[in-house]
Amino acid sequence: MDIFKVFSIEAAHRLPNVPDGHKCARLHGHSFRIEIHLSGPLDPHTGWVMDFAEVKAAFRPIFQRLDHHYLNDIQGLDNPTSERIAEWIWDHLKPALPLLSQVVVHETCTAGSRYRGPAAG
Ligand SMILES: [Zn+2]
Repeated sequence: MDIFKVFSIEAAHRLPNVPDGHKCARLHGHSFRIEIHLSGPLDPHTGWVMDFAEVKAAFRPIFQRLDHHYLNDIQGLDNPTSERIAEWIWDHLKPALPLLSQVVVHETCTAGSRYRGPAAG
């Protein structure tokens, strides 16, 4: 069974490694939409995989580090593409959420990335 919870993060960034003149080299912000997916067995008694409140609590420290921050200043996010942000969230969340199966980062309404961990990519 797969479950997911969605979070919204407002943050600024710039991409340092894009070609000269690329618009993403300039400082700008996004309303990132972050989907946290978990996969595991359905508990026959509770009827759920995991309490969504536990997912929210596990995500809180990550939310506090990212929301309303300049992402480039955060260790490990010197080149904060949506792909790198997905990897970073995975790395920081997996220890607290062993059932984590996928991190989806929507950078805009029409663009984003999906990461399933180092084994799956
Ligand atoms: Zn951007």
